[in-house]
Amino acid sequence: CGIIGVLGNHEAAPLLVEGLKRLEYRGYDSAGIATVNAGRLDRRRAVGKLVNLSDLLVHEPLAGKSGIGHTRWATHGAATVTNAHPHRAGGVAVVHNGIIENFRALREDLAGDGYIQESQTDTETVALLVQRGLDRGLAPVESAREALSRLEGAFALCLLFEGEDDLMICARKGSPLAIGRGEGEMFVGSDAIALAPMTDRITYLEEGDWAILTRKGAEIYDAANRRANRIETRIQL
Ligand code: GLU
Repeated sequence: CGIIGVLGNHEAAPLLVEGLKRLEYRGYDSAGIATVNAGRLDRRRAVGKLVNLSDLLVHEPLAGKSGIGHTRWATHGAATVTNAHPHRAGGVAVVHNGIIENFRALREDLAGDGYIQESQTDTETVALLVQRGLDRGLAPVESAREALSRLEGAFALCLLFEGEDDLMICARKGSPLAIGRGEGEMFVGSDAIALAPMTDRITYLEEGDWAILTRKGAEIYDAANRRANRIETRIQL
């Protein structure tokens, strides 16, 4: 129900948890974060309040300056650790708000190729779809673009890749998503409030937009994959 993403110059985990705290007002049943640290993708997830995730992170810290985080309000699959986000398939991690309406058809198609879900969610389907593209030789951006073009429903998504410390891909279709710009840092959040501790320079994605983020900035594309210019505003909160 809440998304946060960081390509930063400091440890990402505390920023991700802080961002998720600011999204608590939306309600949630579980939470999780994933980071890339020296190329290595890893994640932590916990059911219940954010403090459960924070406690887990004390015992099993997650290093890395790039990361994504999520508070989940379950729509498909019970509130369990296995169903909590980020979902991971091979070298890709995904956080997602909303619903992928056609996930059953996609899940069947993927299963036919040996890509089997371990969760009951519509979200893990996206992770497997992107990973199948990677396995077929597509680069992360191409695989994400192709996967996004196959998704139906109302959602916001953010993707992180193993081996890519400076890459995040996000998309908006029916669920709001804000991109934040810092000094050599970039952020993503469900709203500007989540990003307030990090930056006040906010660009809202428009319906159907998707974006490639690096620490240098964001390349935004519209639903027809044309390069799009979206206005950056200074938010006062
Ligand atoms: N449909 C997804 C799930 O059930 C995302 C729910 C949400 O927006 O938190 O895991």
